[in-house]
Amino acid sequence: MKKITIAVDGHSSTGKSTLAKQLAKRLDFIYVDTGAMYRAVTYFALQHDFFAAQKLNQEKLIQQLDDMAISFQLNEKNKQSEVHLNQINVEKHIRKMEVSERVSSVAQLPEVRNKLVNIQQELGKKGGIVMDGRDIGTVVFPKAELKLFMTANAQIRAQRRFEELTQKGDEISFEQVYKNLKERDEIDSNRTHSPLKQADDAVLIDNSNLSLNEQFQMILALAKCRQGK
Ligand code: C5P
Repeated sequence: MKKITIAVDGHSSTGKSTLAKQLAKRLDFIYVDTGAMYRAVTYFALQHDFFAAQKLNQEKLIQQLDDMAISFQLNEKNKQSEVHLNQINVEKHIRKMEVSERVSSVAQLPEVRNKLVNIQQELGKKGGIVMDGRDIGTVVFPKAELKLFMTANAQIRAQRRFEELTQKGDEISFEQVYKNLKERDEIDSNRTHSPLKQADDAVLIDNSNLSLNEQFQMILALAKCRQGK
């Protein structure tokens, strides 16, 4: 069975990681959540007080980049691959709103992107990988056999994310979630370095009106086709 590369890009909260995890499990591929890596760098910057109000001290962060080890390790309990910052599991901190509100400004920095893209390319060099993010099909793996670009109506996306966060116990309003995802889309799509855009050869998936299962079956069929099965 061919170990292809599957790149899943798209707007915020479009279910990229849910789909990527499902595909990786079914195909027995590695799954890499690149958003978690940008979030871990942002969490580092917060921990070290590199933000005055919302403004990032870019120089300080860039100086510290070499001392930051970002890796994934399998959590034996839930069988999920979880992001580690300097060998410490930071998974439960990185989805908080304080990180979500700052991550897109961190992800604009070319120095941060270069570091993380190198790690991502190393993780995926043998193929057999599903990677989700914003620049996977355009920059990280421009030769990926299957590229998906996911989008959905912003209200629907915000509602899904709002439910997910409140179920986890986060005290947050729908408006905060909606504003955050619109802001991230705006910054991610308009930044100078590796902006979020659909690769020419990516398949566009608008899942506003698709169930998780419909979406999964459709994309699994595509993946199998690209594997030559
Ligand atoms: O995927 P997730 O929503 O967790 O990503 C958080 C943020 O990380 C994005 O809004 C974007 O700013 C940044 N990101 C990126 N490139 C990627 C993955 C994420 O710039 N490949």
